[in-house]
Amino acid sequence: MSSPTDGRARLEDLPLRDDLRGLTPYGAPQAPLPVALNVNENTHPVPEEVADDILDSIALALREVNRYPDREFTALREGFADYLGHGLDRDQIWAANGSNEVLQHLLQAFGGPGRRAFGFGPTYSMYPLLTRATGAEYVAGVRDADYTVSADSASAQVADADPDVTFLCAPNNPTGTPMSLDVIDAVYEASRGIVIVDEAYQEFAPRDERSALTLLPGRERLVVSRTMSKAFAFAGARVGYLAADPGVIDALRLVRLPYHLSALTQAAATAALRHAPTMLSMVDEIVAQRDRISATLDALGYTPYESWTNFVLFSGVDDPAATWQGLYDRGVLIRDVGIAHSLRVTAGTADESTAFLEALASL
Ligand code: PMP
Repeated sequence: MSSPTDGRARLEDLPLRDDLRGLTPYGAPQAPLPVALNVNENTHPVPEEVADDILDSIALALREVNRYPDREFTALREGFADYLGHGLDRDQIWAANGSNEVLQHLLQAFGGPGRRAFGFGPTYSMYPLLTRATGAEYVAGVRDADYTVSADSASAQVADADPDVTFLCAPNNPTGTPMSLDVIDAVYEASRGIVIVDEAYQEFAPRDERSALTLLPGRERLVVSRTMSKAFAFAGARVGYLAADPGVIDALRLVRLPYHLSALTQAAATAALRHAPTMLSMVDEIVAQRDRISATLDALGYTPYESWTNFVLFSGVDDPAATWQGLYDRGVLIRDVGIAHSLRVTAGTADESTAFLEALASL
């Protein structure tokens, strides 16, 4: 037995689950740089008048914080149903502390030991982590060179892997790539398991594009997850949600912790939803900055990928680690997502986007 030398036990000396040994935790750097464009946040603060209303709601909720909150977060589910539209009602809505927790609930209910989850890589790095932490096996499928995946390829890969849970990140993080509804439908038809369409960035897609919410009727294994972290500028409040068949929601009640959404979270999110148009008013501005970043990257000789999100993945970077460090030294934090010769940048305010582009041009 080795003993800890710095007052901290080493993981290998602890009776840790065997299947967690050797895993690395999620770890996007959190550095206090003036321009932080690394985790796809909405860098615009919550508008003043909305912040005031949210504060009033939290103040009211605080007066009853001696009691447990509404376990069924009824008002919040009604708020999400209204916001999403498509004829949804609150029985079809679930929410949790960020869509990460929503995905975890899905895996706890439909994944777990002896089961398998699947996603088309490169995709959101939490899918494998959440899958393994809840005891299931993760299988990575592949995309074409431009990060799209065709309906034929997608359905063949899913039929082959035969997953219990399939993640379709649409549009995809970290590449920004859209996924058309015929691919989603083909994957659904090819699988017997739960199909999760992660629409974390859907609000940044072109307005006339249909959401996977339109596919929900008649598809009881289909789940569409969303978050308030991106378009709603609410990442710090930790609120994610999903729409699915009411039976799926019943399954999630089996695994959630009692009262998992605090009264303060419910009050804040319900108030924010009442101001959805104001909360979302920065989306057009962010999309404009995203397109400006892509155009300028192109002019600088890089290769930006098509993006329907609030970020841009670009390739043509000789040494991503050196470029990342050069930007860091100039006060600009972006993300090295581990894709060869590529980096990812979040679209910020006009000033932040300019700071990034000028810093990059100066390297
Ligand atoms: N899905 C995708 C595709 C994401 O990029 C993120 C955040 N980076 C999440 C889910 C989780 O977001 P949150 O937990 O803040 O809702």
